[in-house]
Amino acid sequence: MFLVFSFVFCCAWLVERKRHYLLLLALSCILFCAGASVQIFHLPDSAYPNAVISSVFYTSAVIAATEGILGRSQKQLGLRVELAMLLVITGLIWFFCYVTPHVLARIYIQNFGYGAILLIASLRLVPGPRTRPVDRALFWIMFVFAVQFFPRTALTAGPNALFSARDFGQSPFWQALQVSLAVLGAALAFAILAAALSDLLDDLRRERDNDPLTGVLNRRGFEERSGVLVTRAGGASVSLVLCDLDHFKSINDTYGHPAGDDVLRQVGAILVSELQSSDIAGRIGGEEFAILMPDTPEEDAAAVAERIRKRIERQAFDRIPTSRRVSGSFGVVERRSAESLHDVMVRADQLLYKAKSDGRNRLARAVEEERPPASISSLKLAAVHVVP
Ligand code: GH3
Ligand code: MG
Ligand code: MG
Repeated sequence: MFLVFSFVFCCAWLVERKRHYLLLLALSCILFCAGASVQIFHLPDSAYPNAVISSVFYTSAVIAATEGILGRSQKQLGLRVELAMLLVITGLIWFFCYVTPHVLARIYIQNFGYGAILLIASLRLVPGPRTRPVDRALFWIMFVFAVQFFPRTALTAGPNALFSARDFGQSPFWQALQVSLAVLGAALAFAILAAALSDLLDDLRRERDNDPLTGVLNRRGFEERSGVLVTRAGGASVSLVLCDLDHFKSINDTYGHPAGDDVLRQVGAILVSELQSSDIAGRIGGEEFAILMPDTPEEDAAAVAERIRKRIERQAFDRIPTSRRVSGSFGVVERRSAESLHDVMVRADQLLYKAKSDGRNRLARAVEEERPPASISSLKLAAVHVVP
């Protein structure tokens, strides 16, 4: 079973080579199989070398599994800790073989040792409020797997049990160990595979929804997240800012496409630095950006847009001479009750067009002088307030 898991982990690594932890998990399964083979097939056939060699394999398997699981969350035990664990456990097993032979001590050292290593590692993965369900499942399975080493060993090996090499395979300890590995070890391996698959899906989703040039969302990602937010907003205020860079075509034509790309990248960075964590920003067209701000009245959204406008105007862009200023035009609207994201975007776009036709490098806002009309079709912009 663990050979099959090692094959699956290797295959998963071949698909996603940047996830090195999958190789550690494959290695852990192979080391475990090696340890089990040494014991089951009596290789070598004399008790003490067999006990020491199988212990080295098992301990290495537990350390590789722990590093693999931690590595998935960018955590690690570190080589020094790993070597120290391997040396301490192997040293104790050697002691209780050759100095004071004691089979029960060896059983307790290995099982309590492995339980402790896994327990300490699992405590580094304690889920927080934003932990994904797959990570929660992985934590709990690892935690239960770690904890079971203690009662299982105490209950099945007992304090006074004596084993002969011949009937060890029939002992309750050995059989309970096999059951726990078959059930919980396999569950842990499945949980890690599920977590790896979920990481992969997250990466694909991120690639699908993000603009690689600027790091903000692309149109698809922006519309999806903003749509959800607008639907959930209820009566709360939500504002939208649209920004289109001015005469961007001439920037490309004069300084080249890579210089244009640099401008887009830096404008993306300005946007991100001005936003709150709850805001949603996206590049929804070539040189057009959108920001959706929950719980923000138009007044506050306009203040943010104005800050962004000024920063773009003052920014010294890479590859563009300082004598050539870059600017953007903005449309700012607050959502009216029952308006969809599409409705809000249409209104913001109309205002953006207004800012362009009024001379660019400015923002245009709809300021209502009357109460909002009941239906969107009868909605008209009561006044257009242009800043500056
Ligand atoms: P306006 O002030 O009216 O907005 O004029 P504009 O030149 O900005 O508008 P227009 O729509 O004519 O030009 C947009 C340009 O943006 C054209 C296209 O080459 C450029 N563009 C679109 N996507 C990218 C991109 O990813 N990188 C670069 N460098 N340029 C892009
Ligand atoms: Mg433009
Ligand atoms: Mg445009």
